Amino acid sequence: MLHPCLSCGACCAYFRVAFHWSEADAALGGVVPPELTETLDPHRLVMRGTQASRPRCVALQGTVGEAAHCGVYERRPSVCREVEPSWEFGRPSPQCDKARLGHGLPALTPADWASSSAA
Ligand code: SF4
Ligand code: SF4
Repeated sequence: MLHPCLSCGACCAYFRVAFHWSEADAALGGVVPPELTETLDPHRLVMRGTQASRPRCVALQGTVGEAAHCGVYERRPSVCREVEPSWEFGRPSPQCDKARLGHGLPALTPADWASSSAA
């Protein structure tokens, strides 16, 4: 069984994904592809697509709830790295649950990890 996130992607199509501009500045060690971002305010960028009324990050590949993955996984912003899938580490994740429920998917349970492989 695959990692539950690979048949989900809901959090990449639910929240505004905002982060400090330096994360997309290679001169400062930033790794986020600048062409996939747009300016939110003087301090922050957002991933393109995540400010829409129905957000979907431009980097998200596939279909939410079926098969989905981040197209820039190794270069994703810090906020994406901080989203914890519910019960992967033995505790619920309000962000994960909210995004999944918003897409009509059930919240993950400990049972979802019992037979999954590591990410
Ligand atoms: S963290 Fe949760 S909402 Fe995000 S892709 Fe994984 S299972 Fe889906
Ligand atoms: S950068 Fe990747 S992990 Fe972050 S919201 Fe976009 S698709 Fe999801």
